[in-house]
Amino acid sequence: MEYIDLRSDTVSHPTPAMRAAMAQAAVGDDVYHDDPTVNQLEAEAAAKLGKEAAVFVTSGTQGNLCALLAHCQRGESIIIGDTSHIFRNEQGGMAQFGGLIPRTVPVQADATMRFSDLEEAINPDDEHKPVTRLVALENTHNMAGGVPISPEYTAEVGEFARRHGLILHIDGARIFNAAAAFAVDVKELVAAADSVTFCLSKGLCAPVGSVLAGNDAFIRRARRGRKALGGSLRQAGVLAAAGLIALHEMTDRLIEDHRNAQLLAEGLSEIPGLRIHSQHTNFIVFALAADIGLSLDEFVRLLWEKYNIRMSPYGGETGEIRLRTHYWIDQPAIAKTLSAVRAILS
Ligand SMILES: *Cc1c(COP(=O)(O)O)cnc(C)c1O
Repeated sequence: MEYIDLRSDTVSHPTPAMRAAMAQAAVGDDVYHDDPTVNQLEAEAAAKLGKEAAVFVTSGTQGNLCALLAHCQRGESIIIGDTSHIFRNEQGGMAQFGGLIPRTVPVQADATMRFSDLEEAINPDDEHKPVTRLVALENTHNMAGGVPISPEYTAEVGEFARRHGLILHIDGARIFNAAAAFAVDVKELVAAADSVTFCLSKGLCAPVGSVLAGNDAFIRRARRGRKALGGSLRQAGVLAAAGLIALHEMTDRLIEDHRNAQLLAEGLSEIPGLRIHSQHTNFIVFALAADIGLSLDEFVRLLWEKYNIRMSPYGGETGEIRLRTHYWIDQPAIAKTLSAVRAILS
């Protein structure tokens, strides 16, 4: 990329190996289950996560929605974090398309939800209340700042869900970042879950797509939902080919993105006029000091216009910038970013 783009890991372009694999991909009509590359991606993704089956979906949003539609009936309630992506950033698809009622629980700074809060969110067997069907976790947690949640906590939530007859879904858009952070096999992080979604298109660099995994019967229902949502594709092997490279070559290198995020955060923390709020996995959250007389918008504009570096302020009220490192942010890019920020704030 001719500029340094730290706005998100979603901006990552496909790698040269992906573009080559996409050009060569064997394809077929995936609605007839005829696309060998999609079939291979789904089989390998399921195996990697330790689940029976998987389905290739167009996005993480679609994967989460297919999961909720396949698990729940209209009028049922699901327990989700108040700052979860599913609740905040998927347009309430669960209610729009699934007739599901979200019951939110506060997400703590460590990205967990308290068991007392989860317990309280389960409706009693009372005809006034919707039936509570499912609880969802998010790992890593986006709005918490890329915080990974541990295999131990996930297992406890799994126990809790079983005890209460609830389904556990994990929105694992960045689950491989969490696996890298804890140095565990991703299977351990999702073993307790009935279903999991992960994105091929963020830190894993594929241009398009996510995967939803679970047991065979669940994935058959999810495929029906995907079709109804317009997400069943034809010669999708060109996309799945990039997804296979993501699984083969990109998961084990995510730790480099985490190290680069650490390096960048350390460098930024030494620059006066700037405060690091957090650094987890490939995320950095920082703010400008109030007394430097530069707004976030001006700061971002100067970075872009003078240095070809992209950052974007995060929401209106937080006054923060959230950066995410990825494959295309190497150490020279970090050095350039640090000297540009130093120059602007000096
Ligand atoms: C990005 C993201 C999604 C959705 O992915 P899209 O492919 O953008 O629809 C879901 N959950 C989390 C936590 C995410 O960060």
